[in-house]
Amino acid sequence: MSDHPHPGLSSTNIEEALAQSFRDVATAAGAAIYICDFEWKLVFANELAFKLTDVRPKDVGKRILWELYPDIVGTALETMTRRVMDERVTIEQERFYYPRRDAWRQIKIFPVAAGIAVLFADVTEMVRAEQERERATAELQQVMDSTTDAVVWVARDWHITFMNARATELLAPAGDLTGKLVWEAFANATHEDSPFRQSLLQAMERRVYSDVQVFFGEPLNRWFHLMIHPGPTGIVVIFRDITELKKRDEALRASEERYRVLTELSPQAQWAAAPDGSLIYANRRFLEYVGRQISPRSGKEYIEFFDPADRQMVLQRWHECLRTGEDFEIEARLLRSGDGTSRWCRLKASPVRNERGEIEQWLGIASDIHKARVAEAQLRAQYEQLDKQSRMLKAIYAGSPIGMALYEPTELRVLNLNERQAAILGISPEEAIGKRFDELVPNAIASLGMLQRAAKGEPMLNQMVEGTLPSRPNDYRYWNINYSPIFADDGSVTAIAGATVEITQQKRAEAALIQNEKLAAVGRLAASISHEINNPLEAITNLLYLSSAEDLPEAAQDYVHMAQEELKRVSQIATQTLRFHRQSENAVYADPAQMLDAVMNLYQGRLVNSGIRVERRYRATGRVRCFENDIRQVLNNLIANAIDAMRGTGGRLSVSTENRSGNDGESGIAITVADTGHGMSRETQERLFEPFFTTKGINGTGLGLWISRSLVERHHGRLKVRSRAGERVHGTVFQLFLPCESGNAATEWRSEIS
Ligand code: ADP
Ligand code: MG
Repeated sequence: MSDHPHPGLSSTNIEEALAQSFRDVATAAGAAIYICDFEWKLVFANELAFKLTDVRPKDVGKRILWELYPDIVGTALETMTRRVMDERVTIEQERFYYPRRDAWRQIKIFPVAAGIAVLFADVTEMVRAEQERERATAELQQVMDSTTDAVVWVARDWHITFMNARATELLAPAGDLTGKLVWEAFANATHEDSPFRQSLLQAMERRVYSDVQVFFGEPLNRWFHLMIHPGPTGIVVIFRDITELKKRDEALRASEERYRVLTELSPQAQWAAAPDGSLIYANRRFLEYVGRQISPRSGKEYIEFFDPADRQMVLQRWHECLRTGEDFEIEARLLRSGDGTSRWCRLKASPVRNERGEIEQWLGIASDIHKARVAEAQLRAQYEQLDKQSRMLKAIYAGSPIGMALYEPTELRVLNLNERQAAILGISPEEAIGKRFDELVPNAIASLGMLQRAAKGEPMLNQMVEGTLPSRPNDYRYWNINYSPIFADDGSVTAIAGATVEITQQKRAEAALIQNEKLAAVGRLAASISHEINNPLEAITNLLYLSSAEDLPEAAQDYVHMAQEELKRVSQIATQTLRFHRQSENAVYADPAQMLDAVMNLYQGRLVNSGIRVERRYRATGRVRCFENDIRQVLNNLIANAIDAMRGTGGRLSVSTENRSGNDGESGIAITVADTGHGMSRETQERLFEPFFTTKGINGTGLGLWISRSLVERHHGRLKVRSRAGERVHGTVFQLFLPCESGNAATEWRSEIS
């Protein structure tokens, strides 16, 4: 620097002063400068140039550049410098390393009138700082790149200054965003009022952290979760791709929404409960049904939906299911809001579990089954009724005295039959089922014909058939038969129902009745005859008495005597027959010997004709109180049978009376009628008291002993029999025991039935 004042400068002085001024200006500008002439001689340099290079003031004007800077020879700087000199262009280099001093320079070389000027400054520190910063950034970048989160730095001026690898990768479709303005880089996510914009502004201006989920449209088309931190030099945005998550969420929400809509639309009542059992949801249908809302507070009032009678049961089962996780199913009554009635509903629920198997929710339904249940109850009652009826029918069927059977209509096989029908056929029901009718009863032509007509649809009612069955070939029997076809809806015959009543006994009784009627008529006739002949008999008796006078010759007197004797017998028969026929209403005391004689008298003729000897031993004393006619009839039967047994062979008929005491000590009289007839086989002895049992064919009715036994029983008496039917020893003894007061009991019995 020079202290020379301006005035009075000489021309050389001015030159010197200008050069000095130039140097001062350059120094003041903070730049080093030197100038070379066209011969490369250093003609000018300022203080700073001396400081930054090895050039000394003494070198100025003396030495050429390449001597002063041998180390730049052959370098890019030499080329540059020479180019400026030759082509007269300006070349500038911001960073230029100067190895000699291990320093960084900023250089500008430009042509000047004198040659070239080189303007340079030391930027070593700046470059070093820059390098340091770059290193730190690289390090940070490395750190940032190692996180899986995407990181973007936004400078205070809203430029994006940094993106880590993940951010670069995620934002790749949008191109290189580093250095761009946030608003431009994410134009479609940062419009006015967008949450992302709000969060960015908040972080930058109010230094407040926030996070936000934003959808970035074209070209990214992704959802990011962004955490926006205020940073020292702007803001740091850390973000993640949540697109998949969002999609899943969305799908779930969509499906939930669909489910919800469906549920609401469902005509069925639906509900959901928390794992603790509280009701958290019920669809419209359900709420309408019970006419209530679900309180969001407790969710326990659902129990009030139920009929009080069922609440306990519902709670018990529900809690059991909550505890065990079993499916819930129950039938209980819900109170319907519409009409306040209590109606049967079926409630069902199943647990919904998460991946860990824990119950997250219960989903349930409720359906009104009232009608069905009531109908079911009615049906059950009906069924029970039907079942009862069918049992009753079965019982009737089984126990019926009528034979019943079901036949199929094509081959007339037995489908079913009751015990009675089987008994009529003389086989077991098991044997009969499945057999054809003509196999069971081979000769029943008439019945078969009726069955065949019934199979064609013609009912055969009240038909009489008679004959024998293979099971009892000697038994001629009678039946009343009914065959009713059973029709299907189409009119075809599906089966034939048969009902058979055995009327053999009835038939026999009829025959006996006819016989009896004949006998009774004969009896009445005999009575009137005896009555009618009584008078002439009396007249004859008197006349004979008159003619038996002693004036008759001896021989004639004998004849008259004989005639008188015979006439006595005739009148005796006539009066006794008459008496026998007079019904007595009251018990009387009767002499058993007299009763026996009276009966014997009636059979006098037959006895003599059959060559039967009669023995009488009347040892009994006293009388028996009885209905005389009944006892005479018994004796009549016994004597008639005895005579029948000796018919054609003759023999002895013994009649006797004896005083006896009965089994329990009561006194009475035993009347015995014994014959030496053919006797009875064992079978006959077993059956002789059965009605209609006879071995005499059409000459017998089989009723005599049956009636006798019942008459004796009415008198509290007993009728016993012993018989032998041997070759040499044969004969039968009947003994009738009558207690002395037997007539009293008989009186009681008479009054009972009258
Ligand atoms: P019926 O005389 O009409 O045959 P009964 O009831 O009087 O009927 O007798 C039944 C049967 O008992 C007789 O058919 C006969 O076989 C037998 N019977 C009754 N009494 C005698 C008798 N004294 N000797 C042999 N058989 C007898
Ligand atoms: Mg008889």
